[in-house]
Amino acid sequence: MTTQIFSQIPLCLLVISLALTSTLSKQPSDPRNSRCHFLRKIADKEDIKFCWNDLRLPKDLIPQSYEVLILPDLQKSTFSGWSNVEVTVKKSTGSIVLHSKNLTISSVNIRYKDLNDAVTVKKWRLDESLEQMQVELSTPLVAGSSILLNISFTGVIKTDSLGFYLTSYKTKENVVRLLAATQFQPTEARSAFPCFDEPHMKATFQFNIIRPNDYISLFNTEKISEKAVSMNETMDTFNITVKMSTYLVAFVVCDFLSKSQMSKSGVNVVYSKPDTIDNVDFALDSTTRLLDYFEEFFAIRYPFTILDSVAVPGMFSNGMENWGLILYSANYITYNESASTQHDKTYLVVLVAHEVSHQWFGNLVTMEWWDDLWLNEGFATYIMYIGAKHILPESPLMEIFAFNVIEPAMADDSLDSSHPVISPVNNPKYISEIFDLITYYKGASLIRMLENVAGSDVFNEALRSYLHKHQYATATHDDLWAAFPRQLSKVADLNVKEMMETWTLQMGLPLVTINRDGRHVTCSQKRFVIIDHSEIRDFQPESSPFKLIRNELLPLAFDLGFPEYVKWARDSFQKVKNGSLVLTPNQEPIVLKYAVRYGGEEEWNHVMNLLKTSQSRRTVILEALTFTNESSKFNGLLETALSKPSPGDLHLILRSLKNSPNMAQLQWSFIKNNWSRMRCAFHNIPRRLRPIFKPLASLFRTEDQYDDLKTFLGTHMKDSDRLNIYILDAVQMNINWLSKSQKQLVQWLNAQSLR
Ligand SMILES: [Zn+2]
Repeated sequence: MTTQIFSQIPLCLLVISLALTSTLSKQPSDPRNSRCHFLRKIADKEDIKFCWNDLRLPKDLIPQSYEVLILPDLQKSTFSGWSNVEVTVKKSTGSIVLHSKNLTISSVNIRYKDLNDAVTVKKWRLDESLEQMQVELSTPLVAGSSILLNISFTGVIKTDSLGFYLTSYKTKENVVRLLAATQFQPTEARSAFPCFDEPHMKATFQFNIIRPNDYISLFNTEKISEKAVSMNETMDTFNITVKMSTYLVAFVVCDFLSKSQMSKSGVNVVYSKPDTIDNVDFALDSTTRLLDYFEEFFAIRYPFTILDSVAVPGMFSNGMENWGLILYSANYITYNESASTQHDKTYLVVLVAHEVSHQWFGNLVTMEWWDDLWLNEGFATYIMYIGAKHILPESPLMEIFAFNVIEPAMADDSLDSSHPVISPVNNPKYISEIFDLITYYKGASLIRMLENVAGSDVFNEALRSYLHKHQYATATHDDLWAAFPRQLSKVADLNVKEMMETWTLQMGLPLVTINRDGRHVTCSQKRFVIIDHSEIRDFQPESSPFKLIRNELLPLAFDLGFPEYVKWARDSFQKVKNGSLVLTPNQEPIVLKYAVRYGGEEEWNHVMNLLKTSQSRRTVILEALTFTNESSKFNGLLETALSKPSPGDLHLILRSLKNSPNMAQLQWSFIKNNWSRMRCAFHNIPRRLRPIFKPLASLFRTEDQYDDLKTFLGTHMKDSDRLNIYILDAVQMNINWLSKSQKQLVQWLNAQSLR
């Protein structure tokens, strides 16, 4: 905490510069400390005398190019293949260490590229915990030479939406069709082919994929040839990529249809299952316009001649920016004018803008290591609003940014379980953990702040020079600061690096208090914390733009049962049922939700039937059903969703709890009673289960509930204490608020005669 006394300084400037340089005690951490590499020799066991014992790969070998063949068998859920990697030997070494996870290796062959001499492999081993393959050689590799590393492997196509995974959809005729897709970010490329799976180890990739004749295959680049390899199978060969990171490699084997459109740099194609192909036009058009827009905005051409987008059914994340082959969760990328809401439309554009902007931020220039993930995600999250504004100029997108991005980031950052935007991370388990609100939303908020300080012209110029300088390579936050002028002319004596590092290297927000006494102004600042486990402070919610408040208040009027609103919902529902009214996509969710809440069996059965017959509005209808006030019905919804093969419905119901707060205890019992099935449904991946606790925690408010949740998390979610504290803090906040304000509030309500 620092206290400064200023005089004769205009107050407005003082506030700005204080808000921009948070001078809390610095806690910079040196990420290099956690990256020391060492070779451990186990002297008494001759047969395992080499052993690399670090999660990071040694830096002796640099991969240059990969040629890979993948042969999937969708029916048996298995695949086989080989990879041929050209590697430059930077420093002589007697062993090769690369990544491999859950693969069975059948052969390893190495030879010098130019000399054609074979290199004898003494032995190799797989280290499951490090997710590495370690190859010991008879003679050390010659420094400065190039080697070819050929590995044959087989693997299992899993169903957990990670690595190379299997998913499916039903045709109109109710036939199940299989497809396979990939999700390699952050550390799953290694589970599809052995590779040097670190973002800075960029290389070129050429893929060959063998697929059934009635399927197509897709890769990051365009197909250059195909040839029959058997009666039923064809091998597609794709063009060589530019230099890129392994986590951005992607491929899909499916039987989808496509629609295409020309952009300035080439062709854009959107693929979808046949029965929704007519709903991809808006996504296709948005992609083309955004690609053209960003090419101009960044002043760098998109380097591929094709940009494919695929609507993947059952994909867990909403979108993945693989270079040239963006994959989207099918629900979010299809749009139907007569059935989709305005919100669906805005979300689609924002999502597409996010993934398309990544083609530059993340793909062309990649963070050196995952601790700078915010360089990818913070930028994509900010720039997506700029891109979306280009497509939807009428939409109040920057107000939505304040409401959807800045405020949630501030709320999370006010908990002492927060973390700095840039924090050291090594273990793959923790790499997945930092794909959170702080990285995306605080990162984006800081970038917006930087633009406001620097001015748009300086900001845009700096972005262009940063992208240009580091294209096809990696960068760190220091490279970004270096792209800005050392001193910003707009605000004197403000150094970009110094200013930004107070925000990026330490967690939290500054609370600035200003007292003015005549011409003297006293300022003090300290970290703003809602709960620091020792002292409780006041929390003043931020004010929001009026129209957003109105949007928030409308459902409140229904929730509180204002008679004229309830009547409108019920009347509208009856008219829809007897065919005398057609609702707009924006009205439909409100009418369905409150028909379920205030109606009886008739309304419930009608909406249930809609769920069975309407695929395109499934999310809206399912969310409406969560508005029921009847425990048995709510329980039935959970039970049905849990028995489905994909967790999509279950996820939606569990996260909709805010709509039906009185179901919190029921939902909590359901989770506890069905925990092993729940784990199974979410593929035993803790980070996918975590989001289901947050809505619960926001409704819990007693010490008993706190203890119950704490015991449960401590027993069943042992992967991260920090994230457990983060969830529990929400309950603590409610308990504190109630103990402090309940009495006052009741008195006030009594005085207003509202009780
Ligand atoms: Zn992203």
